[in-house]
Amino acid sequence: MSLQFTITAKDPATKARTGRLTLTHGTIETPAFIPVGTKAAVKAMTTAQLKELNVPMLMVNTYHCYLRPGPGTVARAGGLHKFMAWDRPIMTDSGGFQAFSLSNIKDQPLAKVTDAGVTFRSHIDHSEHTFTPESSIATQEQLGADLIFAFDECLAIDAPYEDTRRSLARTHAWAKRSFDAHKRKDQALYGIVQGGRYKDLRIESAKFISSIPFPGYGIGSLFGEPKAESAEVLSWAMEQLPYDKPKHLLGIGAVDDIFEGVAQGIDTFDCVLPTRLARVGYLFSTACTEKDKWRYRITNVKYRESQAPLDPTCTCYVCKNFTQSYIHHLFRADELLAYTLASYHNIAFFMQLFENIRASIRNGTFQVLRAHWHRTE
Ligand SMILES: [Zn+2]
Repeated sequence: MSLQFTITAKDPATKARTGRLTLTHGTIETPAFIPVGTKAAVKAMTTAQLKELNVPMLMVNTYHCYLRPGPGTVARAGGLHKFMAWDRPIMTDSGGFQAFSLSNIKDQPLAKVTDAGVTFRSHIDHSEHTFTPESSIATQEQLGADLIFAFDECLAIDAPYEDTRRSLARTHAWAKRSFDAHKRKDQALYGIVQGGRYKDLRIESAKFISSIPFPGYGIGSLFGEPKAESAEVLSWAMEQLPYDKPKHLLGIGAVDDIFEGVAQGIDTFDCVLPTRLARVGYLFSTACTEKDKWRYRITNVKYRESQAPLDPTCTCYVCKNFTQSYIHHLFRADELLAYTLASYHNIAFFMQLFENIRASIRNGTFQVLRAHWHRTE
């Protein structure tokens, strides 16, 4: 059995729930936040540090590992878990999103999409490659994650209706082909719901994808503004998907989006946000407000002499041992340790946030917690 999912508590006022998701390399408590290790590494972090922070699972990107070092190299090393020394669950995406979004190189043709698959140019050396549903699944089988995703076409959420409709037909055919191509019994394969911002297409997609016996589902292409519209789009898909199966929101990690997703029954989230922002000096803090998205820039001159911790309520190693003044100095002096300490704290922030979310669902106070995180001052 590659996946087992048990719902352990339900919020009375929303669709939020806690659960236990068991995969080949372990059980994670949901809702869960899953940091991203794009090239089989969470930038600036060791896996020992990630474990210390109670990170339950990592997302690794298939597109990047396919291009470098190549899935054969990873397979010969014993798969991603051995290669990167991480014995907890891992998920890989299908590579589709990056093949579409990263192959847009100046003076080079865009990715070419046909019913067979997508042909794209490597962002590293501009060499030409093709992903098909079958080759995406084969690559993900070589990488060896616990949880993998069907190959889909990712259009922008605001793409025109006719383009989205045509793309959706292709995504659905590819979902079936991905399902048929998948052989490894120790991996769980999720189908992905697409459909842009169109109600009939989102509903059609959720119905079609749930007609294939995937053990769980991803919801894709939900980037965009306004937020209220994205929330509504998510609700169309969620209402059609089987309640008892786990659901993953792909690439979403802003605090307000997390609360909206959890309220609608999303179980797992992956996002580069905590680590990407850390590397440019943005630190998350409970002392910030929703207006500044719960983060501030440590490189600002006003932190030069601050003897306060990064976040007054955080108990992580960085907040216990270092001041804002020190982290400010590391960034100003281009010390590499800045990346590690900032990433460490930001991941700690998200781990604490999700622990609080799970506790609030268990004791019936999710709406109180949500209101607290919507305060603007
Ligand atoms: Zn901290």
